[in-house]
Amino acid sequence: MGLLDGRKGLIFGVANDRSIAYHIARNLVEHGATCGFSYLPGEKMERRVRKTLEDGGLSNPWMFPCDVSKDEDLDRLFEAARAEFDALSFVVHSVAFADREYLKLGMFAETPRAVFTQALDISAYTLIAIAQRARGLMPNGGSIVALSYYGAEKVVPGYNVMGVAKAALEAVARYLAADLGRHNIRVNTLSAGPCRTLSAMAVGGIDEMFEWVERKAPLCRNIETDEVGKTAVYLCSDLSSGVTGENVYVDAGYNVMGV
Ligand code: NAD
Repeated sequence: MGLLDGRKGLIFGVANDRSIAYHIARNLVEHGATCGFSYLPGEKMERRVRKTLEDGGLSNPWMFPCDVSKDEDLDRLFEAARAEFDALSFVVHSVAFADREYLKLGMFAETPRAVFTQALDISAYTLIAIAQRARGLMPNGGSIVALSYYGAEKVVPGYNVMGVAKAALEAVARYLAADLGRHNIRVNTLSAGPCRTLSAMAVGGIDEMFEWVERKAPLCRNIETDEVGKTAVYLCSDLSSGVTGENVYVDAGYNVMGV
């Protein structure tokens, strides 16, 4: 019997087979879950996401276009999800965006207002927007998981405005956890170590980060993206029924090190 047999949920953020969301989906499905997928609107993206999921054994996936920065897209998505799934027991938020021009080393102090606002909107506010709509589809409670990174807590050169957005995201998750706990809805962040995805490649100095983690982390290595998926199974299942408002690290232990 799978840990997630009979559970249904939505996954935001699959772009290709390197995406953290894809590895999370594979692990959730392996444990019996049914997943629906939202993707950034566009024919090319739709084809790519469908092929990624089908090549990964997730055949005939339920997919719906949604630009998370648009309330009307989110409304349409959740209306369609209600018709398809009736109720949800988990939602995975694996979406972030910041203008890559400002993810270069030494560029944080140059961040314009519009770049800051967009990064915080797409990468942090959307967790509130999604939770608002998911709540009505979680009559028996549920689990909401968002992806964060250590740059929320400490300065990681090149992570820049995205570090500020992740700090906001982690705080958003705690405040949502406090509000939604009475509905038995849990909200946690999963802080992943660096993974070689499309988004990560936009961050200045990313190669140095991989080398640094290998040298400094207690496990003397970087993580596999699949390891993030395994922890998502824990967070989306009853194994973590008493856990909410937490930030769970999957980073080979890197965050515990001082010098
Ligand atoms: P990715 O590029 O595969 O995924 C990012 C996703 O965000 C893509 O699917 C993209 O289409 C989506 N997206 C961006 N703007 C959107 C919008 N307006 N509407 C809808 N979707 C939008 O990269 P990833 O590394 O898998 O990123 C997933 C999450 O994991 C992000 O929150 C990222 O910050 C976080 N994270 C990544 C790493 C890493 O090293 N890769 C580490 C820790 C946390």
